[in-house]
This record gives sequence, structure tokens and C-alpha cells, in this order.
Amino acid sequence: RRKLDKSRAHFKEAVQHLPLGVSSNFRFWGEDETVFVKHGKGARLWDLDGNEYIDYRLGYGPAILGHCHPEVDAAAREGQSVGTVFALGTEKEVTVAKLIKEMMPAADLVRFSNSGTEAVMAALRLARGYTGKDNYVTFEGSYHGLFDATMWTADPEDMKDQSKDPKVIPYGQGIPQLVRNLFYQVPYNDAQRLEDVLKKHHDSIAAVLIEPILGNCCGIPSKPEFIKAVRALCTKYNVIMIVDEVKTGFRVGRGGAQALYGIEADIFTVAKAVANGYPISAIGGKEEIMRKYGKGVAHGGTYTAQAMSLAAAEKTLTILRDTDALEVIANYGKAMQEGMHKVLTKRGIPHSFTGHHSMSGLFFSAEAPTTYRNWKLSDYTFYDTMAGYLIDMGVMCEPDSREPWFISSAHDQKCLDETLQKFEEAVDL
Ligand code: PMP
Repeated sequence: RRKLDKSRAHFKEAVQHLPLGVSSNFRFWGEDETVFVKHGKGARLWDLDGNEYIDYRLGYGPAILGHCHPEVDAAAREGQSVGTVFALGTEKEVTVAKLIKEMMPAADLVRFSNSGTEAVMAALRLARGYTGKDNYVTFEGSYHGLFDATMWTADPEDMKDQSKDPKVIPYGQGIPQLVRNLFYQVPYNDAQRLEDVLKKHHDSIAAVLIEPILGNCCGIPSKPEFIKAVRALCTKYNVIMIVDEVKTGFRVGRGGAQALYGIEADIFTVAKAVANGYPISAIGGKEEIMRKYGKGVAHGGTYTAQAMSLAAAEKTLTILRDTDALEVIANYGKAMQEGMHKVLTKRGIPHSFTGHHSMSGLFFSAEAPTTYRNWKLSDYTFYDTMAGYLIDMGVMCEPDSREPWFISSAHDQKCLDETLQKFEEAVDL
């Protein structure tokens, strides 16, 4: 077992100053297992004890070109020389907006914010402001950020009887029950159920909010016919389609999941891959909707379109547009899946993959789940145990089959060989 003495000592101190010793509940892996990072470089990271890991988490996706990318970091430093914030606009807002528009055709106009949560909050408000309606639809298993409107999930305790819909419960305490009156939650990959809701309630529904790939259920993807049906139903019932591309945007392709599936959102959100990890997000959308900013819909933020992140975004998006980085990423993902497939087939272990080659989930069942309900009811013991071994061996994968494995353009052949060799060892342990 790797040594974690320094991380453990750091945890003991950290927990005296930070609840759970961290700044996100998900970073707490137990008193003895919580890892603290010293630094990252390319596809790798090192913890306080000097253990080296190949990183397949990448901050849940953002570090798409690898950690500490020299060109992006140099651009960010140049951005710093502009100053931090002014409560006024700066030049690069236009440069980056143009890049987003060029790569994502659904954007006639763009607004910046700082995080994925903020962008989705703004998108939902915009849809409500534009339509004059309050309610919205989400899908089981989605994650759209920390705010009250979307932190609801189907109760796993209430899922045993698949013939009825499970109770919808908040992710945790502090989320007002009143919010439950504002949305409908329908099963993913079930267009008929969406139509049932829209047919009945479209007069009060402003938007359907969809993740094209369920990033918090190990990357369950929309079936192409499903997301196309969602698009058509939103048009038919005069409801705004918000495509949340916080995770997929500029990762699953230059045009995100919208290009992959051949659809256009009315409003979409992007964040993670935009600036290789520097904090920035954006919403893009149709002109008539976006012009509601300035005609009654409020939006702002002290740090929106802050100069350092804009400069990092310009560099990151230019690299993603002009180089084969995304092809390198997808090819790596494909080769990794093929390698794992070989190892598992040799041993007769049933398995399947979900998501996209750039962010994919591994399931130890012959058929991957297509809904949150199936995912939640699956047995993950084998994955979780194997992931624990892998992390111990220096492959920093998702420990609990919640998020997919993320790949950056810095993952090279050496990473691949090492990963597959360790994967084979971990499967046999
Ligand atoms: N939407 C999606 C699809 C996400 O994956 C996330 C983050 N995992 C968010 C919204 C929220 O983004 P943030 O954590 O930057 O607030």
C-alpha cells in the first residue's frame, strides 16, 4: 500500500479549519484515505507524500489539455496583467464569445459567469423570463449544480418497485420543500414520459433542462433518438430546451454534445473545458431569448468575465479548435476501452462502457444502464474495490463509479500502457 502519512497529518490539521477538511464534500474520502495534492503536471498529479498518479478525474473534466498547460498558463498570466475586475467590460469578452459562437452554432449571443452552477441558474432564469412561466422539467440522475432548483433526486429507497415513479427527494438538508412544486422529474431516455408531462403541463413549463450525458451517473448517454425527441417536443410544446453542456462542452467534440447529436439548444451552458480549469462559464443561446438581458431579466456578478480566465479560455478554445487535441483524447479513450475489454474478456468478466471516449464509465455488467434507476440499482462492489486498488497503484480513477473517467490531451502512450498494466493487476487482486 502506498504511504499516505503526510496526507493523513494534513487532514488532521485541515479538519480543524475546514468542515471535513476540504472545500467540497466529495473530496472527503475518509480520515485515512483523503488525498491532498501537492501539484499536477500534464496527465499526472502528485500527492503530499510524493505518490504519483495518472489522473483520470481532471477536476471532473476541466483540465482537458492536462494540468499546468504551459501555453494556457502563460496566457492566463498575460490576462492577469490586464487587472482582475473592474465592474466594466474588457476586450477579450468579445474574442472568447466569438470563439464559442464559432464552435457552438446554437449561440447567437453569449453571457459569461464563473461556474457551472451559475451558468445553469442564469439559463433557467432566462428561460423563465423569456416565456413568463415558472416551472421546468429535469431528468432523473441529472446534476446541474449546487442551487436549490436542481438538487433533487429520485429516492433510491423507493425504487424497488419499478412500475411506479420513485419519490423525488432533495440531495440533502437545507433545500426547501416548496421548490418541489416547481418542477417535474422524468426518467432519462424516456421521451414518452416527457411528452406526457409536456402535453398536460406545458402552459406552466418554461424549460426542459437536460444533460446530454449524465455526468454524475458514470456517463449514461442520451440515446440519439431520445435527445432528438426532446428537441422536437420542446419545439412542439413551446418550451425552452436548455442543454447543460458544462461537462460535455468542448470535450465530446468542438461543437459539444449538440454537434455530436445533431441538435441545437435554445439555451446551452458550458464551463469545465472552456479554460482548462480556470474559473469561467458561459451561457449561449438564440438571439431573441438572449436579448431578454436588457429587457427585464437580471444577470450580473462581480467576477463575471474576469480577465485571467478569459485569456485562459481564449488560448484553450483556440487549441481545441485548431489542433487535433480532441481526436488525441478520443483515440486514447478508445484504446483504453479496447485494452480493458481485452483484459476482461480474457477472464470472462461481463462488462460494458458508457459515455463518450473522452469521458466514459465502466460497468461490470454485459449491458450498461440507460437510466438513473438501473444505474442506482446496479451492484458496484467489484468496480469500487478495483478502483481502490487502482488508486493505490497510482491510477487516480473515480473511486465510486459516480463520475466517468476523464481524459486529457496530455495522456500519452506511456500513461496508457501503465494504466492497462495496472488495470490487469487490479482486476486480478
Ligand atoms: N452542470 C453539469 C452538467 C455539471 O457536470 C456540473 C458540475 N459537475 C455543474 C452543472 C455544476 O458546475 P460547477 O461545479 O462548476 O458549479
